[in-house]
Amino acid sequence: MFNVDRDADTVCALSTAPGIGGIAVLRVSGAGAWDMVRPLASSLPSLPESHRAYYCVIRDPENNEPIDEVLVTYFEKGRSFTGEQTVEVSCHGGQQVSQDVLTLIQRQGARLADRGEFTYRAFMNGRIDLMQAEAVLSLIESQNPKVARLSLRQLQGDLSRSIEEVIESLTWVMAHLEANIDFASEDIEVADVSALLSGVCQSQLKVSALVESYRAGQIVRDGLVVALVGPPNVGKSSLLNTLVGYERAIVTHLPGTTRDTVSERVSIEGVPIQFVDTAGLRETEDLVEKIGIEKTRQAVVDSDVLLAVVDLSEPNIVELLGALELAIGKEVGLIFNKSDLRSAKGGLTAKAAVDKVFGKEMNSALKAWLDEIPEDRIFLASAKSGEGINEIKQFLHGMSHAEQSDGSAIVLQARHQEQLVIVNQALERAIDLLEKNASPEFVLEELMLALRSLNELLGRRFDDEVMDRVFNEFCLGK
Ligand code: GDP
Repeated sequence: MFNVDRDADTVCALSTAPGIGGIAVLRVSGAGAWDMVRPLASSLPSLPESHRAYYCVIRDPENNEPIDEVLVTYFEKGRSFTGEQTVEVSCHGGQQVSQDVLTLIQRQGARLADRGEFTYRAFMNGRIDLMQAEAVLSLIESQNPKVARLSLRQLQGDLSRSIEEVIESLTWVMAHLEANIDFASEDIEVADVSALLSGVCQSQLKVSALVESYRAGQIVRDGLVVALVGPPNVGKSSLLNTLVGYERAIVTHLPGTTRDTVSERVSIEGVPIQFVDTAGLRETEDLVEKIGIEKTRQAVVDSDVLLAVVDLSEPNIVELLGALELAIGKEVGLIFNKSDLRSAKGGLTAKAAVDKVFGKEMNSALKAWLDEIPEDRIFLASAKSGEGINEIKQFLHGMSHAEQSDGSAIVLQARHQEQLVIVNQALERAIDLLEKNASPEFVLEELMLALRSLNELLGRRFDDEVMDRVFNEFCLGK
């Protein structure tokens, strides 16, 4: 899409969202920007001041007909977003006027910018690195305050700095390994293996923390997906309603009423949570219910957290066991609902109370599973009285990594994650080789691979495919 031949063009586009608004901003970037806008308004000076807005009337040079009263702001080369000479024209909002002005600018010789071309130019001119360019996109698209803040931090170079630090540390290790090879026979002091190993280990720890942060990044961006599963009629829909705070799911006393998955987005202390209430997992001949059950399985597979629900007054564990199989590898909370019907607490812990309540009904599979669940993830709750609901909310909040997102850098983009996984694996192999005292050439090979991916992350090494993947996601005018 982008190529160097076209980079010399002066480009223009509507930079505000199309449609009706107070103002519409057109952006013109490239060496000819001012010379293309100036002929449209007689009051504009030939030598404008940078960062100054000029009020003027835009006219069609062909017939002198007035088109709009606008503010024209000039940014000199090296002091604009793109790094090129840039002119911004703030017209009255509305499709017609902004389109007319844009057409006049194009007639002066500017080309309509491609998607993301302004940001691409900022990158090509060294104003921002590739990760920062991606942050621009993520900032524009952010739909919740946490994503916006994380994206801004990325735009300000938070993540780039972490990557730079790793590059610096690995480069130091590589220099010493090279020295080890080149001057092996000479009496030159190079760092010993333990110092090199510690350098690589520290880098690997940083990278693996970033790799792990991706899941938190996804949750911050898309929300925590929580599936409520368990036998019919245990109160899943009622719990969803109570957790969400209003009637959403259909509640009846007939088993199997939730035939489809019902999903609800809520925010718990700023963390978006998507609850999925599912059909039960019981065996059935009813075709519609069968489809519902298949959807349940899929919802469980796709979820981050599984809330398995049991009716405390009538424990039915057969179906729960079906859900447990799907729970392997997931974060699980176990809710014993309808605690109002069967007082179970009596000063006992949740787990001890559960043992007592289940008594003989407990089979060995369930017992083994219960033993694995930390006590603070077992809840005695009541959708009716509200008991235990706050504890469930706190548990979910903890699962969302909301705290983590306030501190260290977090990976938001899939491209970053892919590269960081490659880096992490290469560093793990390098550590292994160093520990085994392998020949420095082998270690260097792994570190080289890691370095290449790190540079690719920052866009210091790139090919058209990477460029297209990043900038194609942008909208016009950005
Ligand atoms: P689902 O099939 O698991 O989604 O269960 P529902 O939410 O439809 O609830 C089934 C029945 O249990 C309804 O009659 C609810 O009013 C009742 N129920 C749900 N939660 C509670 C609770 O905490 N206490 C009591 N006493 N009844 C409840």
